[in-house]
Amino acid sequence: MTDDLERQALITRYEHVCARIRQYSQQYERGDSVHLLAVSKTKPAWMVETLFRQGQTDFGENYLQDALEKITQLRDLPINWHYIGAIQSNKTADIAANFAWVHSLDRLKIAQRLNEQRPDGLPPLKVCIQVNVGEEAQKSGVALAELGDFAQSLLQMNQLQLQGLMCIPRPEEEFEAQRAQFAQLRRGLAQLNEQLNLQLNCLSMGMSADLEAAVAEGASLVRIGTDIFGSRD
Ligand SMILES: *Cc1c(COP(=O)(O)O)cnc(C)c1O
Repeated sequence: MTDDLERQALITRYEHVCARIRQYSQQYERGDSVHLLAVSKTKPAWMVETLFRQGQTDFGENYLQDALEKITQLRDLPINWHYIGAIQSNKTADIAANFAWVHSLDRLKIAQRLNEQRPDGLPPLKVCIQVNVGEEAQKSGVALAELGDFAQSLLQMNQLQLQGLMCIPRPEEEFEAQRAQFAQLRRGLAQLNEQLNLQLNCLSMGMSADLEAAVAEGASLVRIGTDIFGSRD
């Protein structure tokens, strides 16, 4: 059973994260351009519902089965669900049918499947291209050099609506080192906009450990889990 104390503690952590976002937004002159994606992966539906009642509308998930259970339970609430995890081909139909956004797109074959499987009657799926900013081997994400071609292909897909770029940088302790990786994503977006004559404005970057650096470098959507929901098992 959930007791009121646990619910209140969640609300307090959430409000603290919102206050930090407001503070950094002011400090780095970001106005109200930074939005919060509450990453509720592995956490129960009552937590999502509690924060929805506090005004949080966007939630991020990356384990499909876990997400689908919550989406079903909370069907009556107008929540925007964001898929932020790795995508296997056999999961694309469920993702296309149940999410408003996908942040982790880095393969054309997956994009084609999502495009074909997006149900009629739903608006186009909003997507971000995941970029491998550190150019790390073994890491998911499109290389910066291949971004133009990849984006060009996505723009042909009518049921997908490209919003911008996303990254999960290599963990760094130092603020400046965190910032440097986010700066690569920001420059990648500027270059892409120029190259293809676009006006994309979504930079999905920043997690609990590097929130401030992300806001400083231009994040428009910060993805926060631990600082809101507590640590995961
Ligand atoms: C889990 C996760 C987050 C949230 O990370 P925290 O460190 O818990 O804030 C953000 N983005 C992605 C892609 C994740 O998988």
